[in-house]
Formats: sequence, C-alpha cells, structure tokens
Amino acid sequence: MSVAQLKDTSRLCVHTMTTKPLSLDQCLDFYQSSNLSGITIWRNVLERLSLSEARRRVDGSALKVVSLCRGGFFPARTAAERQAAIDDNRLAIDQAQALGAPLVVLVCGAVPGMPLSEARRQITDGIAAVLPYARQAGVKLAIEPLHPMYAGDRSAVNTLRQANDMVAELKDDHVGVALDVYHVWWDPELREQIARCAALKALLAFHVCDWRVPTRDMLNDRALMGDGCINIREIRGWVEEAGFTGFIEAEIFSTENWQLDQRDYLAKIKKAYLEHC
Ligand code: ZN
Repeated sequence: MSVAQLKDTSRLCVHTMTTKPLSLDQCLDFYQSSNLSGITIWRNVLERLSLSEARRRVDGSALKVVSLCRGGFFPARTAAERQAAIDDNRLAIDQAQALGAPLVVLVCGAVPGMPLSEARRQITDGIAAVLPYARQAGVKLAIEPLHPMYAGDRSAVNTLRQANDMVAELKDDHVGVALDVYHVWWDPELREQIARCAALKALLAFHVCDWRVPTRDMLNDRALMGDGCINIREIRGWVEEAGFTGFIEAEIFSTENWQLDQRDYLAKIKKAYLEHC
C-alpha cells in the first residue's frame, strides 16, 4: 500500500450507530469536519425527523449516503407478522430512496425454536415479496450474514455461503450481500465465498470493526479496528481482489466507546482505519 493510500480517507464511511450518542445533525457535522467521506444512516436517527427534513440535512452535507440500516427480520410465526415485516421493509425502502441511499442492509431475522431451514425459507420468500418494490424505487437490498452466535434470534443467515445461495436463488440484480468482518472472519470458506459473491455481482457493502478477546457482550462489545483479532487488512485484500471498490464502513457497537467524546472517537476511528484496514 502506498503512502498516499495510507493517508486516504476517501473510502471511509461511518455508521451513525457507531456514534450512537449523536443526532443525525451532529453525525453529519462531526463526520464532515473529521474528513470522512460516507455515512450509513440507521433508522433510529430518523425517528424525530420527517423524511423531507432528513433529506434537506443530508443534501446540505458533502457526505455520501452509503446505506440505510436496517430492514429484514422476515421470519415470524404468523402470516400477519410476516406481512408486517414486509410492510416495514417497504418503509425502509421509502426512507432509503428519500435519503438517496442506494442500499438497505438486511438483518434477516430468526425465531427462537423455529428450524433455521424454515427461517431461511421465510427470509427468501420475504425478500422476494419486497424486491419488486425495491426495484421500482431503485434501491438494492443487501443480505448481511450474521455470526452464528445470533442464529437463535437475529439471523438464520450465518455464513457468506448461505447469503450467496440466497442471492443465487433470487436471481435479481437488486439483491446482494453486505459483508461484515465481525460476522464472517472465522469462516474457513471466506475467501472462496467472497470470490463467488463477486462472480454473482452481489458484493454491495463492506463493514469493519474488530473482535475483542474476550468478548464481554454479544451485541455491544465490538472493538475498534486493531483492538481485536480479526485479519481485517487481509479480508479487505480478498474483497478488493474480487473487484470491490466501494466504501469501507466502520460499524462498531460499543457501550465502552459510546462513553467517549465522540469527536475524539472519530479521530481514533480514522487513525484505526488508516493503520489497520
Ligand atoms: Zn454490519
């Protein structure tokens, strides 16, 4: 990697959930003054804003909206709940379109006690039901495989192979994959499945953070890049070898880091990105 690349933050995006204490206005302001290039917007920061107000704020910023997080949670015990999930995903697509986000990231969902194979069937059906709406809006859907520790209640899609299989079955250029190192770094098939994902033209997003050892909380103890054991730079190499040229998105849920001054934290994220990604 050249010196110029080492100083380059033109592909660095931060998720608003990474700086959870900040409002959308503060995220836009702080990210831009920190010289970041992209922002992935989580739906919670939109709660108190109309979509037109949110759009106006985003338009006033030089940041590129990379994705909207998140849709998904398709499987459910009843048809009414599955329909509610489809309706919510349509709303997420409306929000993404209004904000100029090309992508909605899907945390696909799981139901405790439901066989994972059945949950995956319902996920595929749910995505298929939403796809025409997404296509019409010009918004893509990105299946994010989640680490198997979340198979009980958050996602029945736990490997990149499963996500690729789903993409191959759905056969639609508006569905692809969001790859997050936190969820997939352990996978012995990772490199070959990244290549397969790229061959499917489905590699839509790349999320980074690190795996703290020991991890103290399953959800909110992600580490800053370099503070854990993930071979982030190697995985980025595989992703780029496969032709990915999109944003590198820092997505770090961390109760510990949410206590920091968030401007200082953004400086740390930038440094960690340059040194470890
Ligand atoms: Zn992610």
